[in-house]
Amino acid sequence: MASVRVVLLGPPGAGKGTQAKLLRERFEACQISTGDILRKAVADKTPLGTEAERYLNRGELVPDDVIVGLVGERLQQKDCAEGFVLDGFPRTLPQAESLEDILKAMALPLDRVLSIQVPHQIIVQRLAGRRNCQECGTLYHMNFDPPRNGETCDRCNGRLQQRDDDREETITTRLRVYESQTAPLVNYYRQRGNLREIDGVGKVEDIQKRIIDALGRPAN
Ligand code: AMP
Repeated sequence: MASVRVVLLGPPGAGKGTQAKLLRERFEACQISTGDILRKAVADKTPLGTEAERYLNRGELVPDDVIVGLVGERLQQKDCAEGFVLDGFPRTLPQAESLEDILKAMALPLDRVLSIQVPHQIIVQRLAGRRNCQECGTLYHMNFDPPRNGETCDRCNGRLQQRDDDREETITTRLRVYESQTAPLVNYYRQRGNLREIDGVGKVEDIQKRIIDALGRPAN
């Protein structure tokens, strides 16, 4: 099976998590979603979670050394040996530089960095309506992909919840943080020649197809 080594860049609500999951299923690759790892650590009350919680709640970034250590360890695990999809990392220039060092040491160069672009107004709509099942994690959107019964999961009847940081006050901070700290990475990777821009508006399957085309390799 073909493998990929790819970074998904884009503002919160660009669809990185959804697309990362589809890529992981299509290629031989692990999915490293730093936001998911941190949210689980918070829920499990681990030392990492205790440290990260206040940043997540405020919509601010967890310190670079914490997140770089976490991703560096995750990349060493067996399921990442053939390939990986990074979703939500790197988010700052120091993180991007550390990633370059880590991958150089592992002799695993990045294939592509995909910058998923979605207009501001659509992002706010997407984030505000986003819900996930507390039990099985299935994602919904109250306007675009609503559950059949109120706030209950179609698959397992679990209760749906809204991420704390998807509330309106925190969305504004997250978008500001993205513009100031993460958006400069688009140029950083453009200069390295492996950036491709993806139109992130439309149906999930159509966006996935654009991504596969941009990867320029056959999928199984
Ligand atoms: P996400 O699910 O990717 O939107 O991430 C949710 C939150 O986790 C962010 O608002 C940050 O507080 C934290 N986070 C996720 N990835 C990173 C990262 N690469 N660097 C710093 N903080 C991160």
